[in-house]
Amino acid sequence: MKKHNFSAGPSILPQEVIMKSSEAVLDFNNDGLSILEISHRSKAFIDVMEKARSLALELMGLEGKGYKALFLQGGASTQFLMVAMNLLEKRAGYLNTGTWSSKAIKEAKKLDDIYEVASSKEANFNYIPKEYDIPSDYDYFHCTSNNTIFGTQLKSFPKCEIPMVCDMSSDIFSRQLDYSQFGLIYAGAQKNMGPAGTTLVVVKEDILGKVSRNIPSIMDYKVHIENGSMFNTPPVFAVYTSMLTLEWLKNLGGLKGIEDLNEKKARLMYSEIDLNPLFKGFAAKEDRSFMNATFTLENENLKETFETMLKEAGISGLNGHRSVGGYRASMYNALPIESVKALVEVMSELESKA
Ligand SMILES: *Cc1c(COP(=O)(O)O)cnc(C)c1O
Repeated sequence: MKKHNFSAGPSILPQEVIMKSSEAVLDFNNDGLSILEISHRSKAFIDVMEKARSLALELMGLEGKGYKALFLQGGASTQFLMVAMNLLEKRAGYLNTGTWSSKAIKEAKKLDDIYEVASSKEANFNYIPKEYDIPSDYDYFHCTSNNTIFGTQLKSFPKCEIPMVCDMSSDIFSRQLDYSQFGLIYAGAQKNMGPAGTTLVVVKEDILGKVSRNIPSIMDYKVHIENGSMFNTPPVFAVYTSMLTLEWLKNLGGLKGIEDLNEKKARLMYSEIDLNPLFKGFAAKEDRSFMNATFTLENENLKETFETMLKEAGISGLNGHRSVGGYRASMYNALPIESVKALVEVMSELESKA
């Protein structure tokens, strides 16, 4: 039986996408070859890459606005450095909202001067700082839209005169936003878009080419753009599966359709966390993530009973990250609302037993 998959990443994919990609592993396009054994220079794969790149821009409403989409490798972690290599000349501002922001800061600091405009570290990152200035003479401002580990999410973004760079690894394609407020967006595929192995970068071309540094080719966004996201062998299977997910999303009604569904799931989850006296939410209410709900069990003695009940209900991947403890329900795009209902049912059943 298929489990209710609350894993934080790699994470759940639409069942339809898993079916289609597994068919392509056996025989891609009824061509007698597997997707795993075709050339990335074949017409069939170039079509896949172009489709994936254009769907990404289309879903974000960025077509014809000077943006390019790239499917790269090395994970979001490589982007921590690549962003700085391509955009950092003197100084950049970073908003520190968690483990991933801190890592982005650490890598960029290896190249030049980074200023933390604000941080919620003193409160173990359980909220999003809101009052801060972004100096207009900095090269760029960097933020993390969704803090996967702590379960907080930026509900709005600051007005920013300089290019705004955003790590959207764990909430990419989950909601409607004015995506043209960003100069660069990046996201590892494995949380809301596809299997591990590729990273989406959406970049406004006119912010590039402004640093004096000599950028190594593989780290240079311009080189990847000039080569149609095929400067070197791309991760063929991960790009194909991501393309299938983007098609699935488009058929579902795009970002409007998925946002409605994600809101319903999050409301259901948080209302149980708030109403059930056995559980306590970790993140500040106004900053709660619609993707990752973090919570703890107030009475440690019930831990074993709760976890046995979860197992019996086929609920998987609920353990919290070690820096927060407790539980984390990741409710990515592909998670059906039935899975949230199953979890909420177990939580209220525990209450009736206790
Ligand atoms: C998971 C995650 C990362 C790290 O992604 P990798 O692809 O493993 O490098 C970075 N940022 C955020 C917000 C994440 O959730």
